[in-house]
Amino acid sequence: MPLGRRDPHGRDAGARAASELLDRGIVVALRRLPALAHRLLPAEGPDASSSRSAGGHPPTAAVTKALHELLTRVRVYLDQFTDLSSEGVAAASAVLEDGAARAAWLRVVAAAVRRPLTAPSGGSRSEGSGSVSGSSGSPDSGSRSCSGSSGNGGGDGRNQGNRERGDSTPEAMALLAVEACDATGLLVDLLSRQAPPSAAALEFVRKLLRMQTLQCLARRLAEASADAGALMAQQLELAESYARLLYSAIRAVGTFSTKSGPDQLPLACLGLQLAEALLDSSVVEHLARLLLLLLQQRPPTCGVGNTRRMAMWTFGVCQNIFALYVALKEDGDEAACATLRQVLSGRCVRHAVLVHGVTALCTADGGPTYGLPDAVRAVIGGCMVEAGQAQREHPRQLRPTLVHALQAVLYTDVPLTPVGTRVAVSVLLRFGRLVVASAGDEWASQQAELRSVPLPAQPAGPRIVVPPAGLAQCAMSVLTPTLNLLYSLLVVGAPEWVVEAGADCWRLVVAVMSRSFLRLASPNQRAWLGTHVLLDAVPPFLPGEPLPSAAPPLVTAFLAGGALPCVERLLRRAGEEPLGPESDVVKGMLRCGHSWKLWCLLLAYGEPRQAAALVATVGKLLRRVGAGAMAEWASPVTDCAGNMLLRALATPAAPEQEQALPEQLARQLMRAACEWLPELSRIALQLMAAPVALGSAGEPARACNVLAPLLTWLPPLLLRCGVGGGGETAGTATASAANAAGPASCAADDLRLLLLEEVRAVPLLGGALRLAQHSTVSSALRLSLAESCCLVAAMWPEEVLRATCANAAGADDGGGAATASKGVAAVAPPRMRPPPPPCSSAWPPELLRALVLHRRKKGGKQQVADGVLALAELLEAGDVGGGSSSSGGCGIQQAPQVRGRLLAAVAWMHGTDAVRERLVASLVAPVEARALLHTCSYRGCTRLAGDSEAEARLQACGRCGGAWYCCRACQLSHWREGGHKETCADGSRPGSD
Ligand SMILES: [Zn+2]
Ligand SMILES: [Zn+2]
Repeated sequence: MPLGRRDPHGRDAGARAASELLDRGIVVALRRLPALAHRLLPAEGPDASSSRSAGGHPPTAAVTKALHELLTRVRVYLDQFTDLSSEGVAAASAVLEDGAARAAWLRVVAAAVRRPLTAPSGGSRSEGSGSVSGSSGSPDSGSRSCSGSSGNGGGDGRNQGNRERGDSTPEAMALLAVEACDATGLLVDLLSRQAPPSAAALEFVRKLLRMQTLQCLARRLAEASADAGALMAQQLELAESYARLLYSAIRAVGTFSTKSGPDQLPLACLGLQLAEALLDSSVVEHLARLLLLLLQQRPPTCGVGNTRRMAMWTFGVCQNIFALYVALKEDGDEAACATLRQVLSGRCVRHAVLVHGVTALCTADGGPTYGLPDAVRAVIGGCMVEAGQAQREHPRQLRPTLVHALQAVLYTDVPLTPVGTRVAVSVLLRFGRLVVASAGDEWASQQAELRSVPLPAQPAGPRIVVPPAGLAQCAMSVLTPTLNLLYSLLVVGAPEWVVEAGADCWRLVVAVMSRSFLRLASPNQRAWLGTHVLLDAVPPFLPGEPLPSAAPPLVTAFLAGGALPCVERLLRRAGEEPLGPESDVVKGMLRCGHSWKLWCLLLAYGEPRQAAALVATVGKLLRRVGAGAMAEWASPVTDCAGNMLLRALATPAAPEQEQALPEQLARQLMRAACEWLPELSRIALQLMAAPVALGSAGEPARACNVLAPLLTWLPPLLLRCGVGGGGETAGTATASAANAAGPASCAADDLRLLLLEEVRAVPLLGGALRLAQHSTVSSALRLSLAESCCLVAAMWPEEVLRATCANAAGADDGGGAATASKGVAAVAPPRMRPPPPPCSSAWPPELLRALVLHRRKKGGKQQVADGVLALAELLEAGDVGGGSSSSGGCGIQQAPQVRGRLLAAVAWMHGTDAVRERLVASLVAPVEARALLHTCSYRGCTRLAGDSEAEARLQACGRCGGAWYCCRACQLSHWREGGHKETCADGSRPGSD
C-alpha cells in the first residue's frame, strides 16, 4: 500500500507524502517533463519563432517520442487507480504536486489541442500564435505542417525528408496529442473524486479552461466535421480523445461544484467560466455535429467502434453538463444555468441524442419511429451496443448514459415546441417502460399497461435492456423530466393525451416503487425517489387554502396511476421492515416538510375506502411508534401525521371563504383524528414524562410538536360534543351532554369515549399545563389548551376532579390509568404506566392561572381567561372541600356562581369563530367516519401484513358478529384485554351467548 510509506518520515511526511506515493520511475519521468515540454513548445506568444531559433531545439522526433512515452507511462500508472477512489486522488495529486511539472503538462496539452487535426496540403491552415510547436516559424516546419494530414494523401512521401532530419512526423505528433488528451482526461477524472478539491487540482482545471482549451477543441472538431467523410483512423482516434478530454473537464467542474458548498466562491466562478466557454466555443455542438456526420458518411476505413465511442462521449458530455446544471441550480447560479440550458438546446446536440434514443426504443420495443429513416436507424443500431454483446439469446444492453443524455436535452427548462413536447413525453414514457421492463419483475410481464403509448406486444421481452446496475439511475433520469414536462401541462382542460400520459407516468413511478426495483437502487437513490419523485408532483397549496371540490388534474393523474395504494404499501413495508428498501423511500418522503400535503390530497381525492385504508395504516404506524418500535423514524411519522392534522385545520386566510374542507376530506380527517389522536396522545404523554425524569433539554420541543395537533383538535372535537352550544343556557349545558337522546347522544358518547378514554384528555391536558411552563409553547397552543381545559371541565367535571382529588390525596394517578387501560394497556410497554407526580393527571390551579396570566395582560380572549380562572377556583375549592376521589361532584357543584363563569366562557367559544363553527359542523361522528372501512376491532392491532388495510380479510366475532379481527391473536387480545368480553354479549345479533 503506497499510503503506508508515509509513516517513517515523521514531521516532514505531510509535505513529501504525495511524491512518496509515486512510483520511482514516474517521479524520474515527471522531472524530465518541463525540459521536454520546453523543447516541444519553447515559448508562448509572438516571439515563439525567435525564441525557438535561439534555443535551436525544434520538436524532434526524439522529443515527441520521449513525451509520448512519458505520458503513456503516467497514464498506465494512473489507470491502475481508477477503481480505488482515495488512492486515485492521491496518485493524481502527486503527479501534479510539482508546480513546474504541472505547468509543463498544461503546455503539452495546449500544444496538443492547438495542432490542426487535418492540416491542408498547402500549409496555409495554421493556428497562429498558439499553433503547435512553433513549427509555423521555420521553413521546413511549413512543409511538415502541410504533410500533417495523412488523410489528404501523399503525406508519407513528403515526410521522408523530415524524418531524415530527425524531426517529428505528423503521425507521431498525432499520437502525442492522443496521449496528452487521454492522460489529462484520466488525471482530471481522478482529481475530481476528491471533495473538496485540492488547491492544485482546482488550479489545474482552471488553467486548463483559461488557456482556451474548449475553443481549441471546438476548432479541431469543426475541422474533423469538415472532412468527416475522409477522416483516417488516427484522426478519428484523435477526435475521440478530444471528446474524452471535454467529457472529463466538464465532469471535474461538475463534481467540484456538487461536492463543495456554495460558499466556495472560486468554484462558483469556475462553473460560470466553464458554462460560458461551452456556449462561446459551441464545442458540444461541434462534437454532436461530427457524430451526426460520421453516422451519415462513415468511410469504410474506420470501424463502427470509433463512432460508437464518439456517441458515448457525446452523451457523457450531455450528462455531465446536466449534472453541472443541477449543481449550479442548487447553488442558485441562474446565469450559469441559463447558459448551460442554451448549450443543451443546441440543434445538433438534441438531434444526436434523440436519433439515438428513438433508434434504441425502436429496436427494443418495435414502436413508432417518429419518421426516423430506416437507414439511419440501421447505422445507429450498430453503434449502440457494447461489442460482443450482440448475441441472439441475450438481449443487448443499452448504455445508461444515453438515457441520462436524454434527460439532459429534454429537461423541462429547455424550451420545446408543443409538438416537440408531445414527442418528448412519448419517448420518455417508452424509455420508462423499457427501464421497468428491464428490471424483469412481475410488472414487466404485464407489459406495463401504458395507454398513451400503444405498442406491439413483445412476449419475448425487450430486445434491448438497460443493464441492472444502471436501472435505478435511469429510472430517475426518465421519470424526473417526464414529470417536469407534464407538470405544467396537467391543468384543467388539458388535452386527452396529457391526461393519459400523466397517469402512465405515475404507473411507471408505482412500478419503480416495487420491491424488486427498489432493491436495485442505492439507499440514496431510494431516498431521492421518495423526496423528489413522490413529492414533486404535489400541486402547491397553502395550509388553510380551500381545496377545490374536484381533484386538480395533477392529483387525478397520480391517483389514476395508483399512487394512493402505492404510498400505503410503502408505509406498511417500511413499518414492518425498518431496514427494508421501502424504508429509505419513506424516510425520504417523510423528511420533507411538506409531505403532509401529499397525504392530505390523497385523503381528499382518493378512492374513499383506499384513503381510509391509508389512514388506518398510518394509525398502526403511530401505534408502533408509541409502543417503542421503529424508534429511528418515530419523529418523522409522528410529525407528518401531526402536521397533516394540524395544517388541515389551519384557518383560511380569508375568513369569509365559504368552503372549509371538501366533504370527503372532512370525513377522512375525522377518521384520522379517531385513529391518530389516541396514539399521538400516548406518545405525547411519554415525551412529557421524560424531561422531568431525564432532565433532557430536547424533549420539551419534541413534546410540543406532538402536542400541537392534539391541542388544535381538542376544542373543535369538544365543541362537537355539544356542550354549552346552540343557545343553551350555561346551566343546562352538562345536562344536555348527559341526557340528550337519539343519534346526537350516540355521537356524544362516541366522542366521550374517544376523548376521555382513548385520547385521555384529562392527563394529557394536565401534562400540557406543566409543559406550558416552558416558553416553547406558542400562544396559539396556549389558547387551545385553555379552551380545552374549560371545555373538558364543563363537560366532565367528575373526571377532572377525580384526577385532582387523587393527586391531592397523594395517590398515584389511579383514575387516569384505569381509564386508559381499556384502550392501550394491551400493547403498552411497562414504562407506559403513568409516572408518579410529574405526569399526574391533576390540573394544578396555579398552572391554570399562569396559563392565562399572560393572555390577560394582552387583553385577548378575555372570556376564555375568565373561564380558566373560574376553573382554577373550582379546583381549589374541590381540593379543599372534597379531598376524596369517591364523589364526582365534590367541588365544582358547590360553587354555582363560579361554575357559571366557566360555562359562560364555554358558551362564548361556541358563538365566536364562524370558521371553526363550520369546521365543527363538517366533522362527522366517529362511528360514521369509521364506517368508511372496517378494520380490526382490536384497538391495539399493529399488524401490517399485506399491501393495504382495504384488502385485509377480517373475521367476525362468532358470538356477536359485531367485531372483526385480522387474526386470531387480535381476537384473543380484544377479548382478554380490550374489553370485548364485557361488550360481546350486548351484541344485537340474536343467538349470541
Ligand atoms: Zn388485528
Ligand atoms: Zn363479540
